[in-house]
Amino acid sequence: MKTYNVSINGELKTSTDTFEVKNPATDEVIGFAPISNEEEVKEAIEAAKAAQKDWAAQSDKYRKGKLMEAAKVLEDNTEYLAQWITKEQGKAMAGPGSMFEMQACVGWTQVPASLDLPVEVVFEDEARRDELHRKPVGVVGAIAPWNWPLMIAIWQIMPSLRAGNTVVIKPSEYTTIGTLEMVRLLNTVLPAGVLNSIAGGGKVGAMLVESKDVDKIMFTGSTSTARKIIEASGNNMARLTLECGGNDPAIILPGTDMTSKAGDLFWGAFINQGQTCACAKRLYVHENDYENVINILNDVSGQMAMGNGMDEGVLLGPIQNKMQFDKVVDLVEDAKANGARVIRGGKATGGAGYFYPITLIADVDNGSRIVDEEQFGPVLPIIKYKTVEEAIQKANDTRTGLGASVWSDNIDEATKVAQQIESGTVWINQHGAIHPMVPFGGVKDSGYGVEFGIEGLKSVTQPRVISIKK
Ligand code: NAD
Repeated sequence: MKTYNVSINGELKTSTDTFEVKNPATDEVIGFAPISNEEEVKEAIEAAKAAQKDWAAQSDKYRKGKLMEAAKVLEDNTEYLAQWITKEQGKAMAGPGSMFEMQACVGWTQVPASLDLPVEVVFEDEARRDELHRKPVGVVGAIAPWNWPLMIAIWQIMPSLRAGNTVVIKPSEYTTIGTLEMVRLLNTVLPAGVLNSIAGGGKVGAMLVESKDVDKIMFTGSTSTARKIIEASGNNMARLTLECGGNDPAIILPGTDMTSKAGDLFWGAFINQGQTCACAKRLYVHENDYENVINILNDVSGQMAMGNGMDEGVLLGPIQNKMQFDKVVDLVEDAKANGARVIRGGKATGGAGYFYPITLIADVDNGSRIVDEEQFGPVLPIIKYKTVEEAIQKANDTRTGLGASVWSDNIDEATKVAQQIESGTVWINQHGAIHPMVPFGGVKDSGYGVEFGIEGLKSVTQPRVISIKK
């Protein structure tokens, strides 16, 4: 079985220290991933540092051109990389799965290639002119999670490169090979040292974030890891963009016709088997509509095939790893033991792979673990409310604040409610509908800093003022 390689300074590096990578749908070993040692991490950071000045000195036009070449590489290798995503991460090739993730990789590469940060004159009078220039930060350390492994890596890599930074990326230990292969392919069009990869678990990630030669960390993952990165930045002053977990509420306003919206709500909650940072993870429904909404969602859920994501017709795959699978089982068992009503699912499928069916849970409330904790799996607790004020209060009763949604036939009413939700984004009649031009980030424990669009590009730059006496 093949051992895959990291890319450092444009070259592939083999390693004798490796770990097994398994397919979560079959439990079969699909390859070996390398584990970087301290020397290799240093080598990758040094390569990025050495390449950064030349890369930054190139024109915007040149770097935009390189990103467009990178987008073409992703397009040409869509099927190959999508298959890695499915084999390694579990999501289906079809539907909003791996091919969709690859299309997103292309889009999130082309969009930063189209953006500019021109010099701004921030003040001018007869005595002086003050200009704000945007400079690259330097070396960006990118730490990625396992749920959307390639797409999130691209979110971190492409704006950084566009702005003139160089990158060292460490993929999640659960989804290493696809990312290493993507970096290898991107290196066929990027100058040596501009994009480097290292591999391994949290220890390897810590070596990257603690380095004195890393200037900015782009992190997506859990709040607990984010806290460790914040601590490390106390020593190296690395700038941070932290995209952490969420426990997004979705509120259906009283009397809303959900028949036409049920498909969007389903995918808003269950895309990637619910293993998405900005999935609807708690659904608040008015008491008069409660049973009707449950029935509508139950009907839609019954139409979605789950299985090995490589098989035709399959839209939903397994949970990605045992740690996450055990967490989902534990939360559902806790809900059942405390009197929750299981509408569908609620018991692991059994057999090979970490399959857990789409699970709808009724008659639960804030205060129960399935509502208060991010389940990050194919489970949706449905909570009954009497007044909209109560729904808003319960939606905000959490330490997280990544996304949220309000569902209504009256956009003005929905907007009024949206204004009162404490989260980075509130979607109306959609959930998790991110876009490469629209800033995305969290409040409270969901992190700080934003990605995407002009704001995201600014976040991988350093402002420099040039102040001229007239
Ligand atoms: P995680 O925090 O366990 O791991 C994320 C990455 O951090 C991995 O690459 C891991 O190896 C690395 N890491 C672990 N310890 C480290 C350390 N001390 N220093 C540096 N790196 C370290 O998270 P996960 O389980 O991979 O991801 C799931 C979480 O990510 C969920 O909570 C989810 O909501 C969140 N998430 C957020 C977003 C977002 O954009 N806000 C997107 C996807 C996932």
